[in-house]
Order: sequence, then C-alpha cells, then structure tokens
Amino acid sequence: MNDNCISVVIPAYNEEEVILRCYVDLTEVMSAVSYRYELIFVNDGSKDQTLSILTDLAKRDAQVKIINFARNFGHQAAVTAGINQAEGDCVVIIDADLQDPPNVIPEMLVKWEEGYDVVYGKRKKRKGETVFKLVTASMFYRFLQYMSDTEIPRDTGDFRLIDRKVVHVFNRMTEKNKFIRGIVSWIGFNQTYVEYERDERAAGVTKYPLRKMIAFASDGIFSFSSKPLKLITRMGMLTVVLAFVVLVYSLCAKLLHLPMVERGWTSLMTAITLFSGVQMLSLGIMGEYIARIYDESKNRPQYIVRDTIQYRGEGNIPPS
Ligand code: UDP
Ligand code: MG
Repeated sequence: MNDNCISVVIPAYNEEEVILRCYVDLTEVMSAVSYRYELIFVNDGSKDQTLSILTDLAKRDAQVKIINFARNFGHQAAVTAGINQAEGDCVVIIDADLQDPPNVIPEMLVKWEEGYDVVYGKRKKRKGETVFKLVTASMFYRFLQYMSDTEIPRDTGDFRLIDRKVVHVFNRMTEKNKFIRGIVSWIGFNQTYVEYERDERAAGVTKYPLRKMIAFASDGIFSFSSKPLKLITRMGMLTVVLAFVVLVYSLCAKLLHLPMVERGWTSLMTAITLFSGVQMLSLGIMGEYIARIYDESKNRPQYIVRDTIQYRGEGNIPPS
C-alpha cells in the first residue's frame, strides 16, 4: 500500500436518489487503487434525505467525511470547501450524480504518477443532455474562449484531479464567486487530460436550472476578462463617428433647406431606441464588474460550514 492519500470531493445538493450509489461506486473504485483515500461529501444545504444517508455512511465507514453547509451556497462554493478541507496528496473533484464515471479516476491517477499536476476530464460525448443544454454549453465555451485571456480547455467540467501543489495555491486565493475550471487553468503547472464519455445522470434531476447556468456563465466571463469593458469603449467610438456623419448631414440639409421634420421621425426613433439600448447594456456590463468589486470588498466568507461530520473507526466516536 502506497503512503499517499487521495481526497475525493463530492458536492451534493438534494441527491438522495443517487448518493448511495455514488458512494458504492466510488468505494469500489477507490478500494481497488493502491492508495489510502478519503471521501469528502459536501452537503450544500440539501432539503431532502441526503444528509441523513451520508451520516449513516459516515458512521459505518471511517473514510467518509461530511462538510455540512449552513444553507445552499452553490456548486462552486461546495467544491471550494471540499478542496479547502482535503488532506490528501491530490484531490479528485467529481459530481454526485455519476455523470462523471468513477472508473476514470484510476486513469487520472496514472497521469498523476507520471508527474502531471492537473488531470482534467475531457468530455468526448455527452449522453442524455437536452439539445438546449448542448447548444448553450457549446456556445458558452466558444464565447468564453473568445472573451477570456486565460486558455480554458473546451468541453471540460470540474471533474479533474489536482495535485497538492495546485491545491496549496488554490487555497491561498481569497476570490469569491470562483469559476473553478478557469482558476485551475490560470494557476498553470503541468496540465493534461483524459477523455471520457459523460453519462446520463444516474437518478434525480439537474440542480442547474437556467438561472444558475446564467449566473455560472457570467462568473466565467466577467471574472476572467475585461474585454466586455473594452467592447463598450469600442461601441462608444463607433457612436461618435456615426454622430459626426449625422451632424454633417444635418447641417448640409439645413443649409440646403431640405424638409427635415417630416423625414426625420424614423431616423430619430431608431437612433433613440438603439442608443438607449446600447447605453443600458453598457451600464449593465459596468454594473456586473461593480457588483463583483462590491462582493469582494464585503469580504464575507464564500460559504459557511454548519458542522463537519466524521466518525473515525472504532466505537464510532465523533472527533472533538
Ligand atoms: N450541486 C451543488 N449545489 C448546487 C447545485 C449542484 O452542490 O447548488 C452539485 C450537484 O449535487 C451535483 C453537481 O453539483 O453533484 C453538479 O450538478 P448537476 O448534476 O445538477 O449539474 P449538471 O450536470 O446538470 O450540469
Ligand atoms: Mg450532473
């Protein structure tokens, strides 16, 4: 048995239908590898039986550790908490719904042994996703690629292995609203990937409704790029040029005594609606950055842990 320890981080929000299967599959895979391991389940304020199922598991299995949030803080916060608490020499992040197949983990470990610091899972195929999700996801990754200054690999989720060195850097970053797959790329080190086929959700429904998807996508864009701001500047310059053209035209029309008012309605309406739209949009974009600055400056914690549950072996005595 190797002395190294692997931490597996599993965020879970209302996953009562699938969490037990997740535990069984992960245990099967992890007990076959030659490392010690811990399973860190992060209960992200579930309102169903997820926590009690997990607590039962923890009582029986000393490998299981539960981080129980005070409320729902979101997927990225849950993963962050798991990474923060992980004690292993490397950390594997995996979804609770078995969409990321646990049997890819040994392949990741092989790459890790070869000396890579980050091994991300690259989705070859995505089964059982709606056309809407596939199209929006693909558009999002293309757009992100265009917008961002950091190279963020396409078709990857948070399913990945990261070495202790990367975890160490990650833990020192105090940034809120973390977009983890971006941050990990940004950190650098030796990165590689393994390909896998993304399965359907084993049971239950997605915990990412459109609202959360949009919030997640904007975090990806606004926290990794200032290009939207530059876009505003460019739109502004374009408008000024346009304004000059209109100015010259209007002056000429006046000097030549062309009937202006009868002709002017359509162009006026177009100009007013178009440019008020552009202005609102620009304000909105600036607002996105200001809101993020405000969020950071309040310096509230990214998540609040209600309790940590772990029974270490015999007698099931909870740690102090
Ligand atoms: N999740 C979470 N908090 C949330 C939403 C999701 O911890 O607020 C977890 C969820 O339990 C799952 C993972 O994040 O383990 C991915 O969520 P989901 O499978 O619903 O997303 P999808 O695969 O549909 O994008
Ligand atoms: Mg899923």
